[in-house]
Amino acid sequence: MDVEALSGIPQQVSTGALPAWESVEELVREAHRRYTDDRSGTVADYIPVLAEVDPELFGLAVIEVDGGTHDAGDALHPFSIQSISKMFVYALAIQEHGHQRVRDIVGVNNTGLAFNSLMALERNAGHPMNPMVNAGAIATTALVPGATAVEQWERIREGLSAFAGRALSLDGVVYASEAATNERNRAMGWLLRSYGRMSGDPDEIVDVYTRQCALSVTAHDLAVMGATLADGGVNPVTGQRVVSADVCRDTLAVVASTGLYERSGEWLFEIGLPAKSGVAGGIVAVSPGKGAVAGFSPRLDSAGNSVRSQLAIGHLSRALGLNLFASAPAATVRTNA
Ligand code: GLU
Repeated sequence: MDVEALSGIPQQVSTGALPAWESVEELVREAHRRYTDDRSGTVADYIPVLAEVDPELFGLAVIEVDGGTHDAGDALHPFSIQSISKMFVYALAIQEHGHQRVRDIVGVNNTGLAFNSLMALERNAGHPMNPMVNAGAIATTALVPGATAVEQWERIREGLSAFAGRALSLDGVVYASEAATNERNRAMGWLLRSYGRMSGDPDEIVDVYTRQCALSVTAHDLAVMGATLADGGVNPVTGQRVVSADVCRDTLAVVASTGLYERSGEWLFEIGLPAKSGVAGGIVAVSPGKGAVAGFSPRLDSAGNSVRSQLAIGHLSRALGLNLFASAPAATVRTNA
């Protein structure tokens, strides 16, 4: 991302709490206004139906761990969650199987290669290395409990709905479009199977993965989902415990290092927050103990990350003091407001 675009936004430190609701509200509105005219990037087209979206859409949402809500622009416009589903399904898998088992099967390191790389699997004896690339995400989906693919899908839909605090549903048009063009993901499923890294029918597992990517969400939903991970696993809007605090920590650690495709290192260096993006234009960034910021805008940079969402979240990370690595001596920090 172009960090020059963030120059002039004072870097507040992460020490302390969020500013008062009114200040956050004003900053969210300002961040939305500020990047509305940025039309750089291009809409994803490798899933045919995604190319038909209105590129002007732009929504921004913040949910605080005390349930405080801020929506700006098209924050309630639906789009498919895509790769962002990976982090929440990963959380459900660790909740079910525990830290060590999922770590052994899926891994936590960067592949250094594209999110849909088959070469990465071949180079590592079929070990997916990381749950945020497609191979690792497919292997993670295979870990979701259920006697049949239908039960696994229902478990994922229910689990992600609990994160969002409302019943999420499938975008059937996106699902059909991707299911008709996902040869590469199916190849990955079979390659995992050939290395003995995944049990079950690869075609069925990839179908469940394709469905999870086609779940319909809004920027507001993503912010609630992220805020649940920021709040030790309790949804701050519904009060429901969705996963344990340990699961949140594990999930956020892996997302911090791998959430923005090949730009993950650059993002962590400049913005300092675990964040996950998806090719439909969504990004959610999580500030542990404070809340989550989500953006939606379809134009993407060359790595596949929404341009406006990155800028607006980067802006808010600075202005709200969310960068996890920015501190100051506690004695000198009275308030971030
Ligand atoms: N469903 C997409 C795929 O598997 C997700 C891609 C993404 O958002 O990165 O190719």
